[in-house]
Amino acid sequence: MVTTLAKGMNYIGGRWVVVGTDSFEDRNPANTGELIGMFSCSGSREADAAVAAAKDAFQTWRQESRIRRAEHLDAFVQLVKKDQEELARLISRECGKCIAEARADVVEGIHTAQYWFGRARTPSGEVLASEIPEKDSYVHRKPKGVVVAITPWNFPFAIPLWLICPSLVEGNTVVFKPAEETPAVGERIVQYFEKAGLPPGVLNLVQGYGEEVGWPLVTHPDVDVVLFTGSAQVGSMIKEACAKDYRKFCVCEMGGKNAMMIFDDADFELALNAAIISAFRTTGQRCVSAERLIVQEGIFERFTEAFEKRARRIRIGDPLDESTFMGPMVSQAGVEKFEHYNKLAAEEGAKIRLSGGKLTDGEYRKGYFVSPFIYVMQHNPKARVLREEVFGPHVALIPFKDLDDATRIYNDCEYGFALSVCSRDYRVIRAVRERCEFGVGYVNLPTIGAEVHLPFGGLKKSGTGMPSAAALVDAVSHRVSWTVNHGTEIKMAQGLTAEVEGK
Ligand code: NAD
Repeated sequence: MVTTLAKGMNYIGGRWVVVGTDSFEDRNPANTGELIGMFSCSGSREADAAVAAAKDAFQTWRQESRIRRAEHLDAFVQLVKKDQEELARLISRECGKCIAEARADVVEGIHTAQYWFGRARTPSGEVLASEIPEKDSYVHRKPKGVVVAITPWNFPFAIPLWLICPSLVEGNTVVFKPAEETPAVGERIVQYFEKAGLPPGVLNLVQGYGEEVGWPLVTHPDVDVVLFTGSAQVGSMIKEACAKDYRKFCVCEMGGKNAMMIFDDADFELALNAAIISAFRTTGQRCVSAERLIVQEGIFERFTEAFEKRARRIRIGDPLDESTFMGPMVSQAGVEKFEHYNKLAAEEGAKIRLSGGKLTDGEYRKGYFVSPFIYVMQHNPKARVLREEVFGPHVALIPFKDLDDATRIYNDCEYGFALSVCSRDYRVIRAVRERCEFGVGYVNLPTIGAEVHLPFGGLKKSGTGMPSAAALVDAVSHRVSWTVNHGTEIKMAQGLTAEVEGK
């Protein structure tokens, strides 16, 4: 079993290195008295060293066979499988996710590595015909260079792997900066890769705060690709910074203000279950959590009552307890944001059905526990609570008249990430797919539950339109065209002559 180091260090050029004296605390959000570890506060010096190591390693790594590169992922999976349950418990303790969800996070990470291991043996380019019979044309993929992966806390195992695995298989080297809320899981990932025999410098780890070490990585002149997953606020700064450098490419996968659209003819129980899962799994702290339930008028009152009743029964508590449905928020800042938006909802005219907030009794006092906040509101384009991501169990129930109304309400939002439509009418379902702006869509399902072989990403303020997970290959490789003439003379396309005047 791989164990967590006493004081979290950086991993640069194949060596674990201590950084100065500054460190930050990593505490269990369900029990803030439990210190999980201390980790190094890195800055630009560490960012420079990590990028230099990755740049050095790139020249050798890019020459390795794609299949051999991917074999490290298989070795990684074998190691993770030995520690699967213990790793899930660490995830749960570090970010407050319920143990069942933490296990799923590990499984998703394993699936990601397995997917890229297998995909290495599938075609990576294309062979195309030419107008000229003696010519063959190819689309050939080449690695881009040094990739920086900056990740959020809420999927501390799976999301880094979504970014790291395709980057490595395609021949890039990586500098990984995990979220400051989940440094221990970030460290584990790198320890497993080290044990799996990844050559020095191919994957580097820097711990610390976003502004202190994340930003120097984003703006580093030797970084070719920035893969960021996190809030829209940070993502838009990253997009702006990368746009200033002609050779830097970034993929920013950000937040959402996701919605379920529940039509009168929906299977009521299925839609209700899906709504509870979409709103409250991970305590509403998923990029695809639904904070808007758009419900047709015919069932609106009945649905609202049933949803409220179910929400009141949700078990909130210790995330390591198998029967808990909702663990804590990740931090005090998360609780404050949730409370701020709950207050704002009241000010913006919400009819509050469940006035959730911070829980302070008994065991709850030890952590950042909250209960659900549910309200009814007519759609109002000016209401910030219907447009901005809260990232907590804060749910609006919004009535709609018909299909036009539902899709108008859904689209009237800067974000465009996940949606679910619950209906039995295939025409309605298809119309929702065609008219709504989303990146991840579901029919008669919750808004959560993505699988790794699908693209995962949002539109508008939610993403760069360059999805993550399986689709990330296009961000971490250049597609170059390569045309070969097998004839003995030059023949040009488009009817152009190859005659050179005065020959
Ligand atoms: P965050 O934006 O606060 O932090 C994400 C990462 O960015 C962290 O590693 C952080 O240290 C780093 N960072 C912060 N400031 C930075 C800066 N100035 N320069 C460089 N790096 C910086 O997000 P979070 O609180 O960790 O995660 C929650 C957010 O992530 C939510 O908005 C959620 O919707 C989103 N999210 C999106 C996806 C997706 O796939 N689209 C998945 C999970 C979470």
